[in-house]
Amino acid sequence: MSLIVQKYGGTSVGSVERINAVAARVAAWRERGHQVVVVVSAMSGETNRLIELAKAIQPRPAPRELDVLLATGEQVTIALLAMALQQIGCPARSYTGAQMNILTDSAHNKARIRDIDGARVLADLAAGRVVVVAGFQGVDENGDITTLGRGGSDTSAVAIAAALKADECQIYTDVDGVYTTDPRIEPRARKLSRITFEEMLEMASLGSKVLQIRAVEFAGKYRVPLRVLSSFEEGEGTLITFEEEVVEEPKIAGIAFARDEAKLTVLGVPDQPGVASRILGPIAAANIEVDMIVQNIAADEATTDFTFTVHRNDHPRAIEILQEIARELGARQVLGDERIVKISLVGVGMRSHAGIASKMFAALAKEKINIRMISTSEIKISVVVDERYLELGVRALHEAFELDVPA
Ligand code: ADP
Ligand code: ASP
Ligand code: MG
Repeated sequence: MSLIVQKYGGTSVGSVERINAVAARVAAWRERGHQVVVVVSAMSGETNRLIELAKAIQPRPAPRELDVLLATGEQVTIALLAMALQQIGCPARSYTGAQMNILTDSAHNKARIRDIDGARVLADLAAGRVVVVAGFQGVDENGDITTLGRGGSDTSAVAIAAALKADECQIYTDVDGVYTTDPRIEPRARKLSRITFEEMLEMASLGSKVLQIRAVEFAGKYRVPLRVLSSFEEGEGTLITFEEEVVEEPKIAGIAFARDEAKLTVLGVPDQPGVASRILGPIAAANIEVDMIVQNIAADEATTDFTFTVHRNDHPRAIEILQEIARELGARQVLGDERIVKISLVGVGMRSHAGIASKMFAALAKEKINIRMISTSEIKISVVVDERYLELGVRALHEAFELDVPA
């Protein structure tokens, strides 16, 4: 007998039929002798609908109140799923994040889980019940409801699996595993039977929304066996592995992309020590995360151009801040560009193979895609390109690295 945590995403609980299908799957696992904890998201589209409602009243909704509102989405699905389970004779009980004491910090809309009290769940499991928990939500030490950021139910599931020392955490979704890239963008994308934890972490942090990055981080920290699989069909899905020495690593595991980036440039900054910190200090103080940074000396050698990327939501605020700094520094101009995307190649095999970057740039050049920024690490290469080249760029790279062919 094993303890399994299963998470079902929005599409998987998007209708009464789907909820009944999930109930049947969960009950089957229990009948095979497993203890099952189920984490669910809100019905598909529901979280977006709630955000729109809030914005119709308050353009920038108060974070605390937004969390009270958003948490209702998952409260609906836990109750419905528990009913669906009971209806087919499977004893079940639902819990909100607060009822389960999923303790988080107080960073509303992007809270981090600090602690989970598993006692109540373990008692239910021992009594033969399935436990249904609301994903995406928790409670802070003041008793206020918090949420974990978009896609946060993945993180709830992995954190619960870690707290209960579950044998496996299964993420059921609308695709049958992790692919070489988003199959919605490249139909020739291939399902991976395994991916290393490191690669999954990079893919998630570079924009692959199939798993929330914090879920992958949690899985790594607590060594939670994690699997992504389909709620619509049977299959093995994709296992996130911790084995470092897989024989004959493929060079590239996959391609990730992020549409929600924006680029900012300060032109003609007098080139002096401390300029980078004068520019980025106030950006950091405004809680804006900076991703790629490029600084280049201009032809006259007296000034420098400073470029960096931020999340698209932060772009308007970042421009405001930069205009102020540019005035103080005597810089020539501030430019902003919201129509960019970041495309990244990820693979642990890059460590031992040269020439990947040049092959990547050649493949993009062949399609006449202009590269605006480049950044690399040990196991990834990212480029920033114009947003109209997203599909073309992803497909060109997928083909150049023959990702549709099993390694
Ligand atoms: P859920 O609601 O179940 O959490 P998500 O929409 O958050 O589902 O995540 C699943 C989606 O992730 C897929 O429908 C797919 O379009 C997208 N996706 C992005 N990158 C990948 C990838 N490399 N492999 C599989 N799916 C991916
Ligand atoms: N319902 C939340 C969202 O849409 C959490 C999740 O689905 O994981 O982001
Ligand atoms: Mg998701």
